[in-house]
Amino acid sequence: MERFREIAPGVLVATAEQLTSTSTVVVGEDGGCLLIDPAVSVADLSALAADLSGAGLRPAVGFATHPHWDHVLWSRELGDVPRYAAPAAVRIAETERVGQLAELTKTAPGHDLDLFGHVVALPANATQVPWPGPVVQVVIHNGHAPGHCALFIPHAGVLVAGDMLSDIEIPILDTVEPDPLGDYRTGLDRLAAVSGVRWVVPGHGHVGDAAEFRCRIEADSRYLDQLAAGDLFDDPRCDVQWQRDWHAHQLAVVRGDLP
Ligand SMILES: [Zn+2]
Repeated sequence: MERFREIAPGVLVATAEQLTSTSTVVVGEDGGCLLIDPAVSVADLSALAADLSGAGLRPAVGFATHPHWDHVLWSRELGDVPRYAAPAAVRIAETERVGQLAELTKTAPGHDLDLFGHVVALPANATQVPWPGPVVQVVIHNGHAPGHCALFIPHAGVLVAGDMLSDIEIPILDTVEPDPLGDYRTGLDRLAAVSGVRWVVPGHGHVGDAAEFRCRIEADSRYLDQLAAGDLFDDPRCDVQWQRDWHAHQLAVVRGDLP
């Protein structure tokens, strides 16, 4: 676990070795902070908790950008606080719990399962995270997962993009939905419309600046165009086997090649 580093005033990002997962902290009032997507191993979460307390911080609120197993983790050391997610994400965390638990125990065993996936829904029509700290806007959409929620911190110009806008992953579509391509494109458009982005933090990968933010929007948009065309193609980010497999799967889905 690379320790938290401040990428913009009051916004810290730590990166785990496993899955190059990022966790983001927004500093609030009186040492309280908003902790987004703490990940990913038990040791990583312990290190995050120690790092925070060493800096005089404690989570006041948690947030999960989406209901996949590696984004809904928590530990006792992080405290008993509300952990928010978009309403659709909360529903999926409940209905898909068995499958997500299986992924968790296979990939990052040893977590306290009583704390796993227990997210609460943002108030209906919320535009911000309800917490005593700087404004953190929510950008809720589908595409990667139902109720995927990016967070934008205007005062710092930081967009926490969840599992979108990665430099090391292709767009990962939610292929069980009726219109995975359309959903993803709508989500990408929502992120592209956020103005004032100076830093983008992907759920997996590396922090990028404003120019990099635009490059990633373009790269993902190009990927979706190529996918929609249905011809075989490669993406430079596709250099690990699970991504090559998922890329082939996505292509088969849009071509209607699945049995
Ligand atoms: Zn995900």
